[in-house]
Amino acid sequence: MPEQSVQYLKGVGPRRAEMFSKMGVNTLRDLASFFPRGYEDRRSCGKIITLQNSEKAIICGKVEVSEALKAGPSLSIFKAAINDGTGIAYALFFRKSSRYQKHDAFAGLKKDFEKGKYIFVSGAAEIGHGQKQIRAEEYEPYDPGAMKKPVHFNRVVPVYPLTEGISQKWLRGLISSNIEKFVSEWQESIPETILNREKLLREKNALAQIHFPDSPESAELARKTLAFSEFLLMETALHLVRQKTRRENKAVSYEIKKTLLTPFKEKLGFEFTSAQKKVINEIFSDMRGGLPMNRLLMGDVGSGKTVVALSAMLLAAENGLQSALLAPTEILAEQHFMKFEKLLKGLDVRLALVTGKLSSGRKTKKETHELISAGRADIVIGTHALLEKSVQFKKLSLVVVDEQHRFGVMQRAGLTQKAEKPDVLVMTATPIPRSLALTLYGDLDVSTIDSLPPGRIPVSTLHLSRDKAYSLIKQEVRNGRQAYIVYPLVEESDKIELKAAVKEANELSSSEFKNYRVGLLHGQMSSAEKEKVMSLFCDRKIDILISTTVIEVGIDVANATVMVIEHAERFGLATLHQLRGRIGRGREKSYCVLLANLKTEQARKRIEIMLSTNDGFKVAQEDLRLRGPGEFFGTVQHGLPLFKAGDIIRDTALIESARRHAREILHNDSGLALPENSMLKKGLELAYKGRMSLSKIG
Ligand code: ADP
Ligand code: MG
Repeated sequence: MPEQSVQYLKGVGPRRAEMFSKMGVNTLRDLASFFPRGYEDRRSCGKIITLQNSEKAIICGKVEVSEALKAGPSLSIFKAAINDGTGIAYALFFRKSSRYQKHDAFAGLKKDFEKGKYIFVSGAAEIGHGQKQIRAEEYEPYDPGAMKKPVHFNRVVPVYPLTEGISQKWLRGLISSNIEKFVSEWQESIPETILNREKLLREKNALAQIHFPDSPESAELARKTLAFSEFLLMETALHLVRQKTRRENKAVSYEIKKTLLTPFKEKLGFEFTSAQKKVINEIFSDMRGGLPMNRLLMGDVGSGKTVVALSAMLLAAENGLQSALLAPTEILAEQHFMKFEKLLKGLDVRLALVTGKLSSGRKTKKETHELISAGRADIVIGTHALLEKSVQFKKLSLVVVDEQHRFGVMQRAGLTQKAEKPDVLVMTATPIPRSLALTLYGDLDVSTIDSLPPGRIPVSTLHLSRDKAYSLIKQEVRNGRQAYIVYPLVEESDKIELKAAVKEANELSSSEFKNYRVGLLHGQMSSAEKEKVMSLFCDRKIDILISTTVIEVGIDVANATVMVIEHAERFGLATLHQLRGRIGRGREKSYCVLLANLKTEQARKRIEIMLSTNDGFKVAQEDLRLRGPGEFFGTVQHGLPLFKAGDIIRDTALIESARRHAREILHNDSGLALPENSMLKKGLELAYKGRMSLSKIG
């Protein structure tokens, strides 16, 4: 399909081209794949004799007479009598008018509604004073004897998304008069055998049917076909990209020696849940296999991903190999480090921490880097500072990325390049709906921890007044528990809001909570300060921790049972759920209180969802629904392809099937050189040109 601008299409021009552009339609190909958002079944006309008051009706018949009337100083009416053999109804068109207007606002209508012409009219019926009327919405003349089919009536008609300045009827007409050209130039991609096996339409036919279907069923099959085509292209593209990196065997091998794993398990103080055992098995079997691991580990907040990752890192250490854990924030890196130190006390494992800033009482950056490059650090934990050139490993074999959604693909690649074909484990606590995971990661294997450790009591989420929230905090603290108060701080550089949080903390600690021990934590503090506050809180020397969202990920203090979130309406659902995951980690009942201004619909919906479920997958699904996949991943460069016919929420099964087919195709024909795959190859070039480095296909 030509990349020609829509502007040069008959009837479009620069002004409409600009409006199209607002809807993402720039080229002819964009227009061809600008699919309807729904359909209206206009296959039959109603009989005038049976018209009901206020029904949405379609009539068709012969024009008997028409006239233009003045209905007031600024309103004119065009009225046409239509006879369908069962009765007469009047089609009404209203136009604003002024007495200075020179052109005739009804010129077009007068021509179309000439006496004796046949016409379709749709609109709301009004019956009164012995007259039947229709407030006309759309109309179309037709010729009962002619071959040419009507565009807007007598069929299932498409309903397109619109923008200001583009009307439904005009757009439908435009697509209708170009559909043959679109169809003939459409690049098909799905190989014949797959089409037959999946019982799909031929793509060209699907394109015709998605715009102007023979029936609603045919429209759905057309959509499914085109969606499958989109998914097949994406899955093939992803596999091709990975094929290059994954085909070779890795250099290292692991043996389960249990010299570290067994003492670690014994010290742990709890049993792994069966969900944890299952994913540890999956990970170990990947690591011991010949090909590098490429696995996504999903688990709701608090499901115990850290000890799973640590087990994998210990397997590496047992084999004399290094592993790295990449954390999204300094606080989280430090938390992991402290936690690992505790869990591994007495075991022969050497830890190192690499962050951007210097930590008090720890080794200098240079010393740490030397340990790592000499292979004298087994497990290295760090922030993106780990990605710097100066960090060199001696024998890195396993890379774990925590809270993946905060890292771009490039950053991940940066770390994996520090080793030759390392095993990669990506962990996320923003549970990604399976369909989206498949979409984002293609052939990444997915492990899910689908249950929480035993004994957890679900967090109660409440929407209360500030007074009630503060009393709840006091009550819990009197019972020996601890609390968080969280302020929104979307960007770490958001100075004004930071000031607000700091000011608030000072005020609260000298008034409302003057009899309590109040601490403050935010991203602008130095590592040493942050560390100090966190360890005071861990040691129960602070009752109430006032914080920005720096605590969103990873903070693990089981004695904290209340979290009050200020301006909850400003946080996204994923963030709210992450924050809530900081409590409910112990054996006490916990409360998450949302202080929110429910002025907007969005805010109301978000808060409602938070109040209604604790299930991270449901939250994520709703989040995706509310915000769409683009925003779901925030500012991260995710490279998520856009689907026009496909719906990543509804089409899970279709995505999986496309994925299987893509695997099979490439398994048999890794360069897409066979004639039966030539269309697919062309389709790929067209769809992903410039978006992925696919230049080396074939
Ligand atoms: P997340 O998946 O959010 O990273 P963590 O790994 O931080 O979760 O685990 C949450 C808490 O649960 C930690 O305090 C951890 O020690 C504890 N935990 C993990 N696994 C178990 C288990 N099987 N039984 C009891 N507690 C566990
Ligand atoms: Mg975690």
